Amino acid sequence: MARIIWFRRDLRIHDHPALNTAIESAQKDGDAQVLALYIVGPRTWKSMNPLQQTYLKQSLESLNSSLQGNLVVKYGDAKTIVPTLAKTIKASAVHISESHTPNAIARDLFVESELAKLDIDFIRTGSAYAVAPGRVTKDDGTYYKVYTPFYKGWLKHGWRGPAPTPTNWPAWITGILSDELPAIKLPAGVELPTAGEREALARWEYFKSNGLSDYDQARNRPDVDGTSRLSTALRFGEIHPRTLLADLDDTSGHEVFRKEIAWREFYADILFNRPDTEDGYYNSAYTAMQYDTGSAADERFTAWTLGRTGYPFVDAGMRQLRQTGWMHNRVRMVVASFLIKDLHIEWTRGAQYFKDWLLDFDPASNSHGWQWTAGCGTDASPYYRVFNPIGQGQRFDPNGDYVREFIPELRHIDGASVHEPWNTLEGYTHNNYPEPIVDHAAERLEALARLEKLPKGKVQAPQPFEK
Ligand code: FAD
Repeated sequence: MARIIWFRRDLRIHDHPALNTAIESAQKDGDAQVLALYIVGPRTWKSMNPLQQTYLKQSLESLNSSLQGNLVVKYGDAKTIVPTLAKTIKASAVHISESHTPNAIARDLFVESELAKLDIDFIRTGSAYAVAPGRVTKDDGTYYKVYTPFYKGWLKHGWRGPAPTPTNWPAWITGILSDELPAIKLPAGVELPTAGEREALARWEYFKSNGLSDYDQARNRPDVDGTSRLSTALRFGEIHPRTLLADLDDTSGHEVFRKEIAWREFYADILFNRPDTEDGYYNSAYTAMQYDTGSAADERFTAWTLGRTGYPFVDAGMRQLRQTGWMHNRVRMVVASFLIKDLHIEWTRGAQYFKDWLLDFDPASNSHGWQWTAGCGTDASPYYRVFNPIGQGQRFDPNGDYVREFIPELRHIDGASVHEPWNTLEGYTHNNYPEPIVDHAAERLEALARLEKLPKGKVQAPQPFEK
C-alpha cells in the first residue's frame, strides 16, 4: 500500500529519518508508491511575513527539484487534506518529522485521530532537533529551567549521527496537481538569500572552512561574516542540527558553536513544556512592569522600526532586518534592550515586529530571546543588565563598518566616530540622520526605577554594572 511523506519544517533530503522510513517501508512492501506532500495552510501562510513566504516558495522549488519534480504542494487545511489524500491513494501510513510547537502538536493529534478512523498509521520519525523537546529531563523527570544544566543534560543524553541520504528513490505518486500559492507582496528593497538545501549545505561547508575555528572570537562582531547564518535554513529544515553537530570537535570555536545550537534546543524545550510562553510571560512577576503606551510611545516605536532612533548601532540593526530579513545576534540583543529599557515599550511588541520581518522567525527562539532581554525569561540574568547602545557599537563594530553599511546618511564619518555623530562637526550634514530620540543615561535610570516597583522577592536583586 502507498505511503505519504508529509514535509513540514524539514525541506531537505539529506539526514531525513522520516523520509528514509517512508521510502524503506514502501520498498519493503513490494515497491509501493510514495506521495511527497507539502501543505501550506491558509492560517500559517497569513501568519508568515512576505519574506518568509517568498523564501518558502523558493525552498519548495528546491525540494521539488531534489525529488525529481515529484513534490505535490497543496494549499488548504492539513486537517482535511491529509486524510482525504491518504484515503484517495489508499495509503497505509503517513510519515512525518515530529513537530513541537503548540499549534503543530494540536494539528498533528487531530490528523492522527482522523487517520486512525481510516485505519491509516501516522508515523513520527525524528524532529527538527538533535534531541527532541521533552527528552532532556532532570533526575526527577521535570524539565530544566536554566540553560547550563540543560546543556550538560543535553550532552549526556546525546544524539544519533546523521541519517543516510536515500540512494534508491521510490516509485513516486504522480498525477496529483499542485496548487498555486497566493501572490506575495514583498516589500521593495528587500534582498533575500537563496533558499534551499543545496545552498544551506554549501554555506555550512564554507563556514566550516572559513569561520568555525574563529567562531568564539568573531561571533559577536556584526561587521564580519563570523557566524554560520544558518538560522533560516534551520528554521525551514533545509539542514538538520545533527548534520552540523556531527562535524564539530572539542576546540573552542566548535565548542561555542555547539553551545549556540543547544540554545535553540533549550528554548524549544522550554516552549514545549511551557506552551503559554509563546506570547506570554515566563516569569509572571514581570507582567506588573510599567510600560509606555499612547501616541508618544507609538512614535518612538515607529522610529525604532525604521532605524531612526539616532543611535547608529541600533538603527543599523533595524535597517539590516528590513533589508535582509536577518539581524546579527549581538545586535538583536542591543535593539531589544533599547526598545524595552530605553523606550520602555513592552517586549511583546518588539517580538511581534521581529515576527513580521525575520526570515528565521521561530516562536521559541524569538519569544525567549526577547524575554531574556526583558528579564522575564528563563535566564536569571538581571533586568539591570542594560545594554549601552553606544558602547556596544564601539566594542563590537570597532571600525564602524557595520553602521556605515546600513546607514548611508553616516557614511561620510570615518572609523568608530560613526557611533557618535553628535561629536563630529559634519555629523548631521548628510541626508537628515536624526539626533537621539531619548537620552540613554536618563532612560536607564528610569528603567531601573520601574523595576524597583515590581513585587519584591520574585525579581533578582540589582547588579551594579551596565553592559
Ligand atoms: P550562529 O551564531 O551561527 O549560531 C548557530 C545556530 O545556533 C543559529 O542558526 C541558531 O539556530 C542557534 N542560535 C544561536 N544563538 C541562539 C540564541 N541566542 N537563541 C537560540 N538559538 C540560537 N533565532 C532564531 O532562529 N529565530 C528567531 O526568531 C530568533 N529571534 C531572536 C530574538 C532576539 C531578541 C534575540 C536576542 C535572539 C533571537 N534569535 C532567534 C537567536 C539568534 O539571534 C539567531 O539564532 C542568530 O542570530 C542566527 O544567526 P546565525 O545562524 O548566524 O547564528
